Amino acid sequence: MGESGSGRTLLARAILGIPEPNWSITADRMMWNNQNLMDMSQAERRSLMGKDISIIFQDPSNCLDPALEVGEQLIEAMPTNKSLPFWRRAKDKKLNAKNWLRKVGVKDPERLMSSYAWELSEGECQKIMIAMAVAHQPRLLIADEPTNQMELNTQAQIFRLLTKLNQLQNVSILLISHELEKVAQWCENLTVIYSGQVMESGPTASIMSHPYHPYTKALIETIPDYDESISHKALLPTLPGSPPALQHPPIGCRLGPRCPEAQKKCVHQPKLCHYKDRYYACHFPYELEQNNDDATS
Ligand code: SF4
Repeated sequence: MGESGSGRTLLARAILGIPEPNWSITADRMMWNNQNLMDMSQAERRSLMGKDISIIFQDPSNCLDPALEVGEQLIEAMPTNKSLPFWRRAKDKKLNAKNWLRKVGVKDPERLMSSYAWELSEGECQKIMIAMAVAHQPRLLIADEPTNQMELNTQAQIFRLLTKLNQLQNVSILLISHELEKVAQWCENLTVIYSGQVMESGPTASIMSHPYHPYTKALIETIPDYDESISHKALLPTLPGSPPALQHPPIGCRLGPRCPEAQKKCVHQPKLCHYKDRYYACHFPYELEQNNDDATS
């Protein structure tokens, strides 16, 4: 979870091993299933991505080939049922593609499959990308703003499908979003990032009820309370300013220039501290005064 420009998509691309040409990824390790992704060759990473890890990108129309009908691309992405004789496999893949489209909320799969990406809305393209990503039932699904540009009832449908995959098919889902309300509703664990760094991480319920970090607290306060009446033209709470450019981060704590709790000590970068099942990077965390001595960095 984080604002636009906080580096969420960058993180997803680093996990997948598809960096931009001018990026360099440095990490001690990046573990998947007891294997270090950093030690793998490009070919090994690619085969793992097709099988075990999938992604739903947030700009679907750029990910589809404009020169091919989307049905053709979708059928190609469907898993092959090797138990069938080879002459029935193509028909089975087509049927499978239509079924997945229905599951992600497409009412008219025939029409969609015979269209080109540029003839469809962003929402329809996104549904196709979701069907492609979930058809292989990966073990980890990275969903980067999967319901962007979709109407509310389709969003709920997609989230129900993702929950079903998670609970019945054992698919872990890394949901990337800027909507804290949505993340709080659907995720068990939450990591808040800002300007490319982890600000706070831990179980969602515990963070939402007792945020330690001023940034998390500010984000929670921006969620409108629909139970209370808001006076006409009242300003909704916001955190002033905007995230810094990642090329020129501020000295010390990156939230410093925007933080309502900033003090002299904040010119030094806070370390990521650990307290019970929670992580936070702040010199002055809320709710921790009495337990500060127990926190470890
Ligand atoms: S370290 Fe200082 S500036 Fe950074 S979040 Fe904590 S209080 Fe705010």
